[in-house]
Amino acid sequence: MPSVLSLRGGVVLGALLLSGCIPVSLAEPLSFYGGRATPLSFGLYVTPNPEENPIDPPERFEGFHAGTDYEVSTDELEEEVSVSAICTGEIAYSGFAEGYGGLVVQRCRIRGEDVSVIYGHLSLGNVPKQKSKVKAGARIGILADARTHESGENRKHLHLGIHRGEELDLRGYVQSEEELKEYIDPLTVLPQTSLSLYPGGVLTPYWQESANEDSASD
Ligand SMILES: [Zn+2]
Repeated sequence: MPSVLSLRGGVVLGALLLSGCIPVSLAEPLSFYGGRATPLSFGLYVTPNPEENPIDPPERFEGFHAGTDYEVSTDELEEEVSVSAICTGEIAYSGFAEGYGGLVVQRCRIRGEDVSVIYGHLSLGNVPKQKSKVKAGARIGILADARTHESGENRKHLHLGIHRGEELDLRGYVQSEEELKEYIDPLTVLPQTSLSLYPGGVLTPYWQESANEDSASD
């Protein structure tokens, strides 16, 4: 029996996962989630060297990326970009964390496993309270503006990590492939429906568009 049933046309019901006998539905973290560029994919080895780094500004950390980064477009740079909870569960952490700026960690069960879901680079004014329960598909935050305290001085994007177990572990990078096994690749569990695709194909990150303009005007 397949453990994941894809249902076209339903964002929240994009996947039904059997966890014991209780069906648990997962939701997409961002609109057009399936059409967004993810240059910092799960498990990618990242260094602060701009030559080896696919993003702008280059990452300050080095190691295996323990999550997936979802980029935003030039239009979204000035807009409010809502982030949805991917699962139903209690908020274990909500506040500032070094490297992330605004951070929310939510405890959930995914595929019958206890996990903590890490949502990084969120605006601190809109995060849910610790111990509150957030349902899959409900708003869990808004992306912080680029290069602010709340984005961890980083570009505007979402870092989504899924750490196995109940322990609160805030790492966004790990130093070995062995440690990477403590994390689940979000792509392997999140639903992907026709509604999650971007009408224009792939949604180009804003920092890539401005780089293209710069080179065109050279
Ligand atoms: Zn990241």
